[in-house]
Amino acid sequence: MNKELKISVGHLYPKQLNLYGDMGNIISLKMRTKWRGIEFDYNEINPGDKIPPCDLYFIGGGQDKEQTEVAKYLYEQKDFLIEKRNEGAVFLGICGGYQLFGHYYQPFEGEKLLGTSLIDAYTVAGKKRFIGNVTACTAFLKPSTLVGFENHSGLTYIQGNTKPLAILTVGNGNNGQDNTEGARFKNVFGTYLHGSLLPKNPHLADYLIKLALENRYHDEIELAVLDDKLEYIAHRAVVGKDY
Ligand code: GLN
Repeated sequence: MNKELKISVGHLYPKQLNLYGDMGNIISLKMRTKWRGIEFDYNEINPGDKIPPCDLYFIGGGQDKEQTEVAKYLYEQKDFLIEKRNEGAVFLGICGGYQLFGHYYQPFEGEKLLGTSLIDAYTVAGKKRFIGNVTACTAFLKPSTLVGFENHSGLTYIQGNTKPLAILTVGNGNNGQDNTEGARFKNVFGTYLHGSLLPKNPHLADYLIKLALENRYHDEIELAVLDDKLEYIAHRAVVGKDY
């Protein structure tokens, strides 16, 4: 058991951005570290709080109203967040949180929300709402598939050195046009997949935990293998499921 290992997690604005069970991602990270005897140091960050240095930051999804509420607090600390990104901290953003990882999110109505520019991307609200199951394939995970469901009107376009997280096999993903889902730059991961994401994709959960620990300890970390029978039953139940 890895008794001496610890991971600090910064949960950004959970009271505002926690749509469709995105809290399940924190529960997955907490349990998958606890089951391995790794200390899980949880930090809830609320509007007005100074964001502390953490190994891994998580931000969930939300309606335009909640995104508007937190965007200014995130934007005020973008330089700090970019510094943490450049130091190798891991970020996971879901849907509305993902959109705020880019340069801006232009909702259908109201002001443009300036983002953190953690990734080279931008989002504009579309007329159509994408709602349904998603299956996408990554180039860095085994199994390669990621599953979840999407519910967004935002259309995200990634550019520069920011790459897609995965390529769609079912669903609309970033914008329903370029067949991409999510984004990755350095250790920043964004996705439209609710579900919640990590309980149904334990291989991604472990990938993120390993990245965060190796960045904290500057050493290769092998995670103990867990019995993920149930998790993969849930995963396979969604793979390829019609929209
Ligand atoms: N409000 C954003 C949109 O509609 C994000 C929604 C979400 O987080 N599910 O695109």
